[in-house]
Amino acid sequence: MTAEIIDGKAFAAKLRERVGEQAHAFTKAAGRKAGLAVVLVGEDPASQVYVRSKHRATVAAGMESYEHRLSADTDATELLVLVERLNKDNAVDGILVQLPLPDGIDEQAVIAAISPDKDVDGFHVTNAGRLAVGQSGFVPCTPLGCMMLLTDRLGDLSGLEAVVIGRSNIVGKPMAQLLLDANATITIAHSRTKDLPAVVGRADIVVAAVGRAEMVKADWLKDGATVIDVGINRLPPAEGEEKGRLVGDVDYAGAKARAGAITPVPGGVGPMTIAVLLRNTLVAAYRNEGLEPPEDL
Ligand code: NAD
Repeated sequence: MTAEIIDGKAFAAKLRERVGEQAHAFTKAAGRKAGLAVVLVGEDPASQVYVRSKHRATVAAGMESYEHRLSADTDATELLVLVERLNKDNAVDGILVQLPLPDGIDEQAVIAAISPDKDVDGFHVTNAGRLAVGQSGFVPCTPLGCMMLLTDRLGDLSGLEAVVIGRSNIVGKPMAQLLLDANATITIAHSRTKDLPAVVGRADIVVAAVGRAEMVKADWLKDGATVIDVGINRLPPAEGEEKGRLVGDVDYAGAKARAGAITPVPGGVGPMTIAVLLRNTLVAAYRNEGLEPPEDL
C-alpha cells in the first residue's frame, strides 16, 4: 500500500482563502476590519519568526494586525496591564500572547487574564471547559486543524479507533476531546503508556504529538491507518548540511508503505495552525459584533 499524502499546505491555503473572503464580508457588515493583537515578550528567535508569519498572514487575509513587542525584562504587571487594555479595545477581536514567556512570568496567570471571548488560541481554562462540556468556545488551533484534515479525508469518524500520543494541554488533550465529540473511540497514550506499539496497532487514526523524531515506527501501524503527525523535530545536520532536516514524530518513509494516508513534515499540520488562528479570529470578530459566524469557516 502507498499512503495518500494529506496535503496540509494546500488545505490551509484554501482555508485562508475562505477566511479572506469572509473577512471582506465582515468588514462590510461591521464597518471595520476584524483585528488580531499579538504580544511578544523578549527576543526568542523562533517566537520572532512565528509572530512575523502570523502578522503577514493576518494582513493577507484582510484583517488588522496589532503587534506589541515588549522587552525581555518586562514584568508581569506591565504585561497584565497591556492584556487588560486589549480586552477592552473594541478593534481587537483576538489576543494571542506568544509562548514561551521569559522565566519569572507566570504563563497561566497571563492566559487567565485574556478575555475568553478573545482567546483565539483556546488556552484559557474557560475555553478548555467549554470544549470539555461541548459548548462553543475557542479550540486550540493545532488540534482543530488536525480535525479538519481528518474529517476531510474520512468524513464520519463514528466508531473509529483513535490513538492520540501526547497529553499536552495545547495539542493532545484537546485533540482527544475533539475526536470524542466526533464519536471516535479514543485512547490517549503518553510517556508512561505500556506497550505503545500494541496500543498504536489497533488505531484507525493515529495522532502523534510527542516531539521525538521518528519515534512511531511503520510496523506499529495498522494497515490503512490515517496518520496525523504533529511533531516538528530537527535532526542533527548530516555531513555537508548546514542545518539538519525537519522530521515529524513518525517514521514517514516507512509509514508511507503501510498507512492509508499520512501528513508530511513539513507541509502537513504546520500550515494548518496559522490558518485556523485566522479562522478563530474571524469567528471572534463575528461573535463580538453579535453576528452569527459563517458556517463554512
Ligand atoms: P509537550 O512536550 O507539551 O507534550 C509531549 C507529550 O508527549 C507529553 O504529554 C508526554 O507525555 C508525551 N510523551 C513524551 N515521551 C513520550 C513517549 N516516549 N511515548 C509516548 N508519549 C510520550 O509537547 P506539545 O506542545 O504537545 O508538542 C508536541 C509536538 O508537536 C512537538 O514536536 C511540537 O513542536 C509539535 N507542535 C507542532 C505544532 C504545529 O503547528 N505543527 C503545534 C504545536 C506543537
